[in-house]
Amino acid sequence: MKEIFLLKLGEIVLKGANKRQFENKLRQNVRRRMKKYGNFDVYILQSTVYVEPMDEEADVDGAWEACRSIFGVVSLCRCRPCEKDLDAIFAAIENYLGDDLDCAKSFKVESKRSDKRFPLTSIQLSQEIGGRLAEAHPGVEVDVHHPDYTVYVEVRDLSAYVHGPAESGAGGLPTGVGGRAMVLLSGGIDSPVAAYMMAKRGVEVEAVHFFSYPYTSQLAKDKVIELARLVTKYSGRMTVNVVSFTEIQEAIRDNCPEEFFTLIMRRFMMEIAQRIAKGDGCGALITGENLGQVASQTMEAMTVTGAVVDIPIFMPLVGMDKKDIISIAREIGTLDTSILPYEDCCTVFTPKHPKTKPTLGQVENAEKKLDREALIARALDNVEKIKVTYHDEPLL
Ligand code: ATP
Ligand code: MG
Repeated sequence: MKEIFLLKLGEIVLKGANKRQFENKLRQNVRRRMKKYGNFDVYILQSTVYVEPMDEEADVDGAWEACRSIFGVVSLCRCRPCEKDLDAIFAAIENYLGDDLDCAKSFKVESKRSDKRFPLTSIQLSQEIGGRLAEAHPGVEVDVHHPDYTVYVEVRDLSAYVHGPAESGAGGLPTGVGGRAMVLLSGGIDSPVAAYMMAKRGVEVEAVHFFSYPYTSQLAKDKVIELARLVTKYSGRMTVNVVSFTEIQEAIRDNCPEEFFTLIMRRFMMEIAQRIAKGDGCGALITGENLGQVASQTMEAMTVTGAVVDIPIFMPLVGMDKKDIISIAREIGTLDTSILPYEDCCTVFTPKHPKTKPTLGQVENAEKKLDREALIARALDNVEKIKVTYHDEPLL
């Protein structure tokens, strides 16, 4: 008999008017993610998403792996459906979990009866099935307090389901329930983690990357596209807007005092990102900024760069330690790509002594020789839009 997945939803947000929207979005996200793996039926009953393969061709292991990175799911299990009948439940456990049980030192049965028409209470059901299993596996002790292995029986509306311990899901909120935002994606460690963290809060993420060919190489661009691809494992598909930044950087180099180079450059990035964001229906920007990490990430510098933007700038890493950011990067699989050595445009024309406590007046004065509007308009004329999904070929 076939195997199906049960994905359990986060409890806290399941209250009030959010519930319907949350569930619909999650079902839509799961359906979209399952497409690659064959024919699956995806439906929600009793705050649980059911993912059911519809034929033999379905790639069940691939689909399971994909379900583990879907936001909005707190825990998930693979289980065997069976008739709502004691003999059928016992047979399903023997058949599906018997080997796992034999490998354990001790076990217990935990039951949940959401179909109240089932004649036994949860406790009676656990006792009855536990007794039969103890008899069938004399080498495995019953231990209801600290069992080595737990057999779960869920008697639900459609069927009964048996499974072993559930795994933790990706957590967070379903992608899309928190609106859409645009991440400024560099090739560094921080911005992919920032994108991941906002996607985890239900935000649909698009990206913009500033690229300074020939000061930065094609490899640097490929690295960013590859990072975006790695993030889409969690966030779903993404469009990366690649903006050619060379002319702006050269204009800054030729016309502005060196100590303000980075700040002025970042003000251009923010303003261009905001314009693309608004055109693409994004209500916020996301950056990987982190207080005190570099000269352009002081409070004063953030005031100056934020001044060109009138939508929220989300900086989920602002108060974190670098080591904690690195461990998230490792966990989500972006670290190895981020530490490849290709240069980012931020390292082109970096001032020897950057201004750490700038005022807005000083910076506006420092950039007054530039025709900001014309430079921005030309950059926006040449945006390359690259669509990225996790199933694309890796670029590096
Ligand atoms: P990261 O590790 O994300 O590159 P960082 O510590 O190197 O961050 P900065 O280089 O000062 O810090 O950049 C701060 C933020 O500005 C980045 O996290 C990113 O959001 C954005 N940013 C920097 N360079 C680019 C770029 N070339 N294209 C798009 N966004 C960028
Ligand atoms: Mg960087």
